[in-house]
Amino acid sequence: MKDCNCIFCKIANGEIPSTTLYEDEDFRVILDLGPATRGHALLLPKNHFANLFELDDETAQKAILVAKKMAGKMKDALGADGFNLVQNNGEAAGQTVHHYHVHVVPRKNGDDVTMTFGSFPKPSDEEMTAIKDKIKENM
Ligand code: AMP
Ligand code: ZN
Repeated sequence: MKDCNCIFCKIANGEIPSTTLYEDEDFRVILDLGPATRGHALLLPKNHFANLFELDDETAQKAILVAKKMAGKMKDALGADGFNLVQNNGEAAGQTVHHYHVHVVPRKNGDDVTMTFGSFPKPSDEEMTAIKDKIKENM
């Protein structure tokens, strides 16, 4: 399941060097080369999945456990006050490298990093119900 043209496949499998924080049979966690904060890390599965929709359930479960473990260790090591776990899927959502990855972003109280939601117009009650019904009819 490796994709020979994928840079994150090469990094995850050690063919391209990286600053590796953690590695096991299924994952490598590296420092992001364009970090949002000090210690910004990326969790990469060693197998190639373009995004969340391609990810198998077992890898999805393991990924969140590794992210949880890393955030705990990094919190103590870096003195982080909080964390963002960010995971982009598709260009519309800002994904630039099409190999599933989770951003593990340490945060400090009062840092000026912006990762905000909330600029979309507030939906009416009718719109909320219509959205819910549309999603539920596909479940
Ligand atoms: P995304 O926008 O979610 O696809 O995030 C891709 C991330 O990968 C960005 O934060 C980049 O800074 C990071 N990145 C791209 N190439 C490399 C690389 N060779 N080593 C480490 N991080 C990288
Ligand atoms: Zn890949």
